[in-house]
Amino acid sequence: MKETSPLNLYKQLPQTNCKECGEETCMAFAAGLIARTRSVDDCKPLVKEKKYAKKLAALRSIVAPELKMVMIGTGEKQFKVGGEDVMFRHQMTFFNKPPFAYDVTDGMEEAKLIERVKKISAWKKFYIGKWESVEMIAVRSVTDDPAKFAACVKKVMENSNFPLILCSFNPAVLKAGLEVAAKTRPLIYAATKENWKEVAQLAHDYNVPVTLSVPFDLDGLKSMAVTFASMGLTDLILDPGTAPNGKMLQQSLQNFINLRRAAVEEAQRDIAYPVMALPINAWATTSDPVRAAYWESVLTAAFVIRGGAIMVKHSTEAHSMMPDMHLRFNIYTDPRKPVQVKPGLYKVGNPGPESPVFVTTNFALTYYTVESDIASNSIDAYILSINTDGIGVQASVAGGQLTPTKIKDSMGETGFDWKGQKYAGLVLPGMAAKFSGELEDLFAGQTKIMVGPEDSGRISEWMKNFWPPK
Ligand code: SF4
Repeated sequence: MKETSPLNLYKQLPQTNCKECGEETCMAFAAGLIARTRSVDDCKPLVKEKKYAKKLAALRSIVAPELKMVMIGTGEKQFKVGGEDVMFRHQMTFFNKPPFAYDVTDGMEEAKLIERVKKISAWKKFYIGKWESVEMIAVRSVTDDPAKFAACVKKVMENSNFPLILCSFNPAVLKAGLEVAAKTRPLIYAATKENWKEVAQLAHDYNVPVTLSVPFDLDGLKSMAVTFASMGLTDLILDPGTAPNGKMLQQSLQNFINLRRAAVEEAQRDIAYPVMALPINAWATTSDPVRAAYWESVLTAAFVIRGGAIMVKHSTEAHSMMPDMHLRFNIYTDPRKPVQVKPGLYKVGNPGPESPVFVTTNFALTYYTVESDIASNSIDAYILSINTDGIGVQASVAGGQLTPTKIKDSMGETGFDWKGQKYAGLVLPGMAAKFSGELEDLFAGQTKIMVGPEDSGRISEWMKNFWPPK
């Protein structure tokens, strides 16, 4: 793990506090660089003025992530792969979630191809305040026919703007795909011990990132990475092999761990590249599509946790995709900052004078659970989300981030008019029941204080028994 401090970075900045970057001081900018909320290029004097050339080079080297970051695609859909600094999430955070690339093949009928591409591109799921989606499409050559592959790539591009992975071990097929797609900066898969010279030439000629595939031979993989780097090709993704089951699966997982450790703990620059996992290989283990989709999901989870930086997958069934999306979301949230919603008063459904106001915290998981439990039962209500720094109800009651005074002040800030309510009722979460007495005093003459259920899943039942207030 790279040890660095704002002071280390500050030494390489102009130290003029000119504010051109939008920060008050160079030190604040240095802190932003560490948090990766600022980029070196935001310091214009450093980038433009020749006298800072040495400092600029030094700074770029210091802030470069331990694990190389490779850009795939262009424009708004461009995706960062790798770029991590730590072995474990709790050591700081992971920055770039592994993109999921779902496959299509050049053997598909055109209508089915288009339908699948559209399905992959449109798939999304709202989860804890964010939309989760697929990021890439892997176009696989199963015909080994350059013309068919090129036509397939063209068709995919006509129906999606997703970054592509062009998959074939045949350089002629890859070349045909690149002729169509090179401008969109696809990843090519893959250079092997047999074809590496031709594929290296393609990566060079078309200026695209390339995957090196040397299954179950880390020395061979390293040697190929060194060779490519010596040719000036450093936008590399490593494929150390993804065995779908048995002892070799154990070996695969260990290889992923070893590669991450070599990059971030041992600073082995020769092999510090993002690693590709192929959960799609689950489909080679069974002819039963349900079992294959299930096992593919299990493999995805295993490799996400062990540092897989990009995944090629097949099943678009909800039961296979959703667990992977949720797991990835949670692993790649920043443990230093709980996922939060903006504090304030929210409407669910179409609330009016007869609607209750439910109190909760701004911890996103809590907020969206409450919101979903209210909305899914067709209840019209308000939710007052209190700023507890993203801490849930039970912990914030215990820790003092949620207090009666804070609830009173937060309600006041919304400008909510209790007088306009036919039924004035502020509903506390059950876990904050002990605040009810104090809140009765604070809201005296404005609203009734009610205690809701401890579990928001029981709000519907609670409404039947306790609303409107007697
Ligand atoms: Fe400092 Fe550069 Fe920001 Fe100016 S633009 S305040 S020199 S970091």
